Amino acid sequence: MSSPFFLRLLLAAAWLVLASCSNSSPLPVNAPHSVPPEVSAAPTGDPVPQSPSPSPSPSKEPEVKAVPYHGPIEHIFFHPLILFPELAFDGDSITRVYDDWFVTVPEFQKMLTLLYERNYILVDIHSLYRLETVNGKLTAVQQPLSLPAGKKPLVLSIDDLNYYEYMRANGNAWRLVPDREDGVTAWARTPDGQEKSSREWEIVPLLDDFVKRHPDFSWQGAKGILALTGYEGVLGYRTNERESPNYKGEKAKALDMIQRLRKNGWTFASHTWGHMDVKKSSLARLKRDTARWKEEVGSLVGSTDVFVYPYGSSVAPEDPKLAFLRSQGFVVFCSVGPQPFLSFRDGMLRMDRRHIDGISLRTQRARLEPLFGNSPLLDPARPKIPTK
Ligand SMILES: [Zn+2]
Repeated sequence: MSSPFFLRLLLAAAWLVLASCSNSSPLPVNAPHSVPPEVSAAPTGDPVPQSPSPSPSPSKEPEVKAVPYHGPIEHIFFHPLILFPELAFDGDSITRVYDDWFVTVPEFQKMLTLLYERNYILVDIHSLYRLETVNGKLTAVQQPLSLPAGKKPLVLSIDDLNYYEYMRANGNAWRLVPDREDGVTAWARTPDGQEKSSREWEIVPLLDDFVKRHPDFSWQGAKGILALTGYEGVLGYRTNERESPNYKGEKAKALDMIQRLRKNGWTFASHTWGHMDVKKSSLARLKRDTARWKEEVGSLVGSTDVFVYPYGSSVAPEDPKLAFLRSQGFVVFCSVGPQPFLSFRDGMLRMDRRHIDGISLRTQRARLEPLFGNSPLLDPARPKIPTK
């Protein structure tokens, strides 16, 4: 193993150590949502055909009546799932990282059921605002949210769905691959060397299947946001290796995945190209990084106005780096915080996300009660570590 590779592995691990922990949003309060009532477009009766040869009326789906929603909007995020605990928790130097920042397949499956039982419904972050150009500036304007009565909105995102090399070595999947007509599934080389795929190995196919079984878990087909870097490609395809003979093929496969994901309600966000700490980095570096993200990732996923800060390391409103990011078309800025926070100000939507991982499942259960109640969630496959 070459030493640069090892260095990258360590760096990547270090990045992830910090990926979720920074409660850098100083204002974890529920922003009030003033939502004007929405006129419900109930179908009107059409008893008498007006013409002797009426056009056949399209078969009407039973319409779900939506009512205005005014409460907090939860946003939770995950990293790719651990499918092989024996690799994640093998006692090596990265075991602690996995114990802290990841969840296992059984943990995710339990949480999904609990969220559904508590009447959460997935919403698309883009349904919370509309875009307008005000004084030449792209602006996010708050939109009223209406949901089926009794449902509570949930935005979900997955960070770093890139399948970095260290992830493959430590119990995550290796890549997403095509499945069924227009779906995707997760593929991995198992610890005993077999090449396999399973719809239970990643959040994306698990959620796609869950929503098929429970259509009322998704509002208007929403799924989640995939926040991607680019330094080791996307979704398990090494679209960063421009000199590789596989470059074209990797790009084509990534594009196929992206089209399938879009079709199934998934959207994309920038997580910077190099998983950079925006607060600590210079403006010049952010400019180089953004250009590269657009070249290598944006060219595949399409333009996006959603930016997900690595490490939750957000910048102050007056920081020129924020003005730069806005000039690049970003109007939604997601950070990390311990409870729902959403604000529309200066033409931006800022939103905090709760990190759902080993740390929060061990230490924030009271705070997570609205989402998951009190039932035990921790996978017995996790290491029995001393009290922190
Ligand atoms: Zn990250």
